[in-house]
Amino acid sequence: MFENNQEMRTNLSELGEFGLIDHLTKGFTPKLPSTIKGIGDDAAVLDFKEKQTLVSTDLLVEGVHFDLAYMPLKHLGYKAVMVNVSDIYAMNARATQITVSIAASNRFPVEALEELYAGIELAAKLYNVDVVGGDTTSSTSGLMISITALGEAEKEDVVYRSGAKPNDLLVVTGDLGAAYMGLQILEREKEVFKANPNAQPDLDPYTYLIERQLKPEARKDIPPLLEELEVKPTSMIDISDGLSSEIIHLCKNSQVGANLFEEKIPLDPAVISVCEEFDLDSTTIALSGGEDYELLFSISQDDYDKIKANPNLSIIGHITEEKEGMHLITRASQKLPLIAKGWNSMEGKE
Ligand SMILES: [Mg+2]
Repeated sequence: MFENNQEMRTNLSELGEFGLIDHLTKGFTPKLPSTIKGIGDDAAVLDFKEKQTLVSTDLLVEGVHFDLAYMPLKHLGYKAVMVNVSDIYAMNARATQITVSIAASNRFPVEALEELYAGIELAAKLYNVDVVGGDTTSSTSGLMISITALGEAEKEDVVYRSGAKPNDLLVVTGDLGAAYMGLQILEREKEVFKANPNAQPDLDPYTYLIERQLKPEARKDIPPLLEELEVKPTSMIDISDGLSSEIIHLCKNSQVGANLFEEKIPLDPAVISVCEEFDLDSTTIALSGGEDYELLFSISQDDYDKIKANPNLSIIGHITEEKEGMHLITRASQKLPLIAKGWNSMEGKE
């Protein structure tokens, strides 16, 4: 998909390291009051005044976390920012700055990195974060992107993974499983394309799923929504690996158990129909799919009335005593132990 940009091929070495950084970051003018100095000195200078500072880093590696056969570089840049700011929102904080470091082999011309940075710039603009630093270097193979996100919050607003209490309600934002099914569609089309490069895929029915995979949106809206509803979660985490492993993280950190109700798991109709097409169980996909970047949190039962009618929020279960363990209650009222299934165990099913 980045073949389009191959007409112009400026070799990375033509700009030199410092020329390249200047070139790629020239649009990154700081806008936030907390950014005292952005790019252009030995270090960025930030001032969060009385607030607490949050820091989170992720590393994305070509061939492990992304496949450029179907991931356009602009989308990759956008998604790399989302993955990081999502972790800041998962602390009930505001994302404010990011630093971006990349290692790229000489297979990537300057124009390719411009695409990547265009995605980063768009995400930074839409999510109101300043790009305040980073590094570029050469790599002997492939592309690596490391982003560090910073954020701020009042001390009393920060939500950890460790505060869930028995009888709290378990709540999730948005819907689950779509990003994973989008990946399945893209993988299938990649195979079709390999076999027949002239095939014209009709991807229209899968638009929502593919968008959730290629252009995920972090839930920037949720911390302000919770503030407006006057709800402070007792624990919170973002859903990067799938619902079941995130519930397990919350429970282990909070030393509690949980009951999750299968019928309450929010699924988009497109996920249900594509799961049928692929002969996959949609609950398994929601539990183990990953990359949804929704937020999972627990709230006190006293806050039930404040959130019950909100279309962004689904109550999917409740917290129990630790000794009761973590369970999925199926539609048939079976009680199954919740286990963290990763991508590997899912691959065996396809
Ligand atoms: Mg996270």
